[in-house]
Amino acid sequence: MDVTMDIYLNNTLTRKKEKFVPIKKEEVGIYSCGPTVYFFPHIGNMRAYVFADVLRRSLEYSGLKVKQVINITDVGHLTSNQDSGEDKIEQTAKKEGKTAGEITKFYEEAFYKDLADLNIEIKDTKFPRATEHIVEQIEIIKILEEKGFAYKISDGIYFDTSKFKDYGKLGNINLKEQKEGARVEINNEKKNPTDFALWKFSKPEEKRLQEWPSPWGTGFPGWHIECSAMSRKYLGQPFDIHTGGIDHIPVHHNNEIAQSECAFSVPLANFWLHNEFLTVEGEKMSKSLGNIFTISDLKERGVHPLSFRYWLLTSHYRSPANFTWESVFGAQTAFEKIIVKYSDWVETEYVEGALNDSDVKQFEEAIADDLNTPIVIAILQKVSGGAVVNKMDKILGLNIKVLAEQLRDIPDEISKLQEERDNVRADKDWKKSDEIRGTIEQKGYTVFDSSDKSVILKTLSLLAKERN
Ligand code: AMP
Ligand code: ZN
Repeated sequence: MDVTMDIYLNNTLTRKKEKFVPIKKEEVGIYSCGPTVYFFPHIGNMRAYVFADVLRRSLEYSGLKVKQVINITDVGHLTSNQDSGEDKIEQTAKKEGKTAGEITKFYEEAFYKDLADLNIEIKDTKFPRATEHIVEQIEIIKILEEKGFAYKISDGIYFDTSKFKDYGKLGNINLKEQKEGARVEINNEKKNPTDFALWKFSKPEEKRLQEWPSPWGTGFPGWHIECSAMSRKYLGQPFDIHTGGIDHIPVHHNNEIAQSECAFSVPLANFWLHNEFLTVEGEKMSKSLGNIFTISDLKERGVHPLSFRYWLLTSHYRSPANFTWESVFGAQTAFEKIIVKYSDWVETEYVEGALNDSDVKQFEEAIADDLNTPIVIAILQKVSGGAVVNKMDKILGLNIKVLAEQLRDIPDEISKLQEERDNVRADKDWKKSDEIRGTIEQKGYTVFDSSDKSVILKTLSLLAKERN
């Protein structure tokens, strides 16, 4: 397949919008930092994966084949996000009286369910688990030690950030501020406040649920090393694009870069792309702030996961998206209108109608400009033919064709009411007809009347509740 479209992406590493050129001719490797599987992912986390999905679909649309890796963090992510505090998975497992494996499997499955609900493409996506790549992680730590980048203190093996002259280059972070932040968690043995754990020792007084032998002693890997190990294993080094939320720029991604570049003397990734936060009342949605919602919460309230996806796409990935129920319900109404219009085209067999070249050109230009989905959504609202919608939906991933079919799928109970109503309408019994319309609507359907017939469609809201 030929590459038919150049895509420009904002690279956090160079702080410029750059034309994307893959390392290999026709294949792109994308690594997206995955979830820590100790709780349900919240819809802020899912923003990171919807963004990576739009990126991936755009590259595929442009004619490239995509290999994607989303890691599963099933060990080593500490409650402080730094090198102190408890392992989030150990903590949850102990609290619930379960094994670590029971916890991680359960929440990993929940993550896949959310990916499916959001129509995130996972063909050719690998989901490697940190616990299944301990050997690869130890290998890199050994290299770092041999090259003089690692040192041992009482609670583990640490990376010496003063030895990497480019430390902090990603996002040009303010190292002074970072050092002060790191000082808050006092570890007097560290040589520099920004040094971070590569391997942590199990505490002698406590039996961990997950621990492994290593050349330095029994313990577990630090949180950052898994991404260096698994991206290299599955995508090579350097690979094309690394994604994640902006919260990962200052620490996690700079640490990944430090480890991988010092161990192997080549860059880790060429492009670094970061999504802004999903916020609530202006604050980052996060479990620690207690302001989270899950995809399941949305469905329960009658918001279809794909309406949420639509809502997300109305913001550019590099702008914050402030979540309110009002705004997602508004997005659902707008999205439903598009599906109803599309469904109407199916009815009149217009759906495969001719492509409107100017619509296609406009939306391709918007995507090529750093994935400008808000513009694409604005175009989607105006287009007047199913063929264009189908083409745009390859990138938007809103599954409009399938949703249109699902909205038309009416149970017998409702078809009977429709028939009854059509009859009373023919007899011009408007009062009875309105009454039946009320009953139908109450059950979660919408009635569209024209002079000679009526059409009934399910609402997205009902579809959402049925999915839960
Ligand atoms: P975690 O499980 O905390 O490592 O997060 C998984 C992914 O979600 C990472 O890419 C984070 O940067 C991203 N993320 C976390 N919170 C938010 C948020 N409120 N909005 C957008 N992305 C987020
Ligand atoms: Zn990572």
